[in-house]
Amino acid sequence: MSTRRNFLKAVPAVGAALTASCTDPSQAASNSLNSPAHAPPSTLVRPVVISTWNHGKAANTAAWQVLSENGNALDAAEAGVRVTEADPNGRSVGIGGRPDRDGNVTLDACIMNSDGDCGSVAYLQEILHPITVARQVMEKTPHVMLVGKGAQEFAIAQGHEKVNLLTEESKKEWEEWLASERRQKPKINVENHDTIGLLTLDNQGNLAGACTTSGAAYKYAGRVGDSPIIGAGLYLDNDVGGATATGWGEAVIRACGCFLVVELMRQGHSPQEACELAVERVVAKNPDWKDIQVGFIALGKDGRHGSFCIAPGFEYALWSEQVENGLFASGSKLEG
Ligand code: ASP
Repeated sequence: MSTRRNFLKAVPAVGAALTASCTDPSQAASNSLNSPAHAPPSTLVRPVVISTWNHGKAANTAAWQVLSENGNALDAAEAGVRVTEADPNGRSVGIGGRPDRDGNVTLDACIMNSDGDCGSVAYLQEILHPITVARQVMEKTPHVMLVGKGAQEFAIAQGHEKVNLLTEESKKEWEEWLASERRQKPKINVENHDTIGLLTLDNQGNLAGACTTSGAAYKYAGRVGDSPIIGAGLYLDNDVGGATATGWGEAVIRACGCFLVVELMRQGHSPQEACELAVERVVAKNPDWKDIQVGFIALGKDGRHGSFCIAPGFEYALWSEQVENGLFASGSKLEG
């Protein structure tokens, strides 16, 4: 494994990464889902943390701390997204998240480990850390998913306390929304998404992932998106790689988005190709694709990563031995 000092000699400063597209033309996706591997495996890189959006930087810092102390991928993934869940300034995850149209903040989250175990909560209210509840569902129940009142009662039985998740700022924005034209058409890259999805590869070569959100802003009461649905908002296979999604959850669910990304990697596509092909599938299945955002990030078992989205504006955060707390612009279908 290269040392950070050697790497810094070989690549531009991380700050330059912010404006760079992650799309490597040499890895452009093929149209065939069945074509053989396009690129030889790169040198093994681990540990690695990759997550969605700018808020991923703070999450990655917490996850990297766990990994750099030889912690496991699952602990790192949970620790990472808990940072975002607890940040009241984030308008799309945990406390401070935008509410549904009735003014209730409802949270969706799921987690998956290297054994293929998974846990999930949806439509969970008044609980600060849905990702930890999801992990407890995975580890302490025979189930995968708990929703609504049952999920909240389970969380309280596990020692979580009820908290008010609707901050004054989010309440004010919601009241403005009630009176505005945006009621008809949410703003792309602003009100449609900002979920944190985070993937980890630890020193032992094991993968884990976590995904947590307050969902689409001003959604119908009871709406659940892709983020807590294993295979849609998050999926991994420890023999292959992992993927997580952000954006218009309905479109991701229709394509079984993250399962698709992982299966494409299993067929030999690089993480980048897999993300691009999955976006093509989402586009094919959603006639309104130019009006929505969907973004995927993927992490291969060998530490390679990829990202692609529909509309420009999606960023992902990366931390590895080679890139310390970087932020990258994702390549996009509509890039002009
Ligand atoms: N994917 C999430 C959902 O549809 C939203 C987001 O990415 O912020 O609930």
